Amino acid sequence: MSHLSTERLAALGDEAPTPVEAAHLATCEACAREHAAYRALVAMAHEERGAIGIPLTRFEAIASALAGAASVTVADGRIRMGLSVSRR
Ligand SMILES: [Zn+2]
Repeated sequence: MSHLSTERLAALGDEAPTPVEAAHLATCEACAREHAAYRALVAMAHEERGAIGIPLTRFEAIASALAGAASVTVADGRIRMGLSVSRR
């Protein structure tokens, strides 16, 4: 069997190899090294996805910070809204 294509090695980052591909990976150092690199890349991407959390474009991400910083007052029949932001 010839070496696995770059596209197939990338797909194997999160897919199981066929028996023929697994046999080749067991005997070919070059493909095994590339396969391991793609698997590590996929693992890092999964870790990052969990660490990033809710995007800042979603209201839930900023609601708790705004809850303590926003104020609404009514004076002279006008509604005034304020926002105080502190540096951390
Ligand atoms: Zn190979």
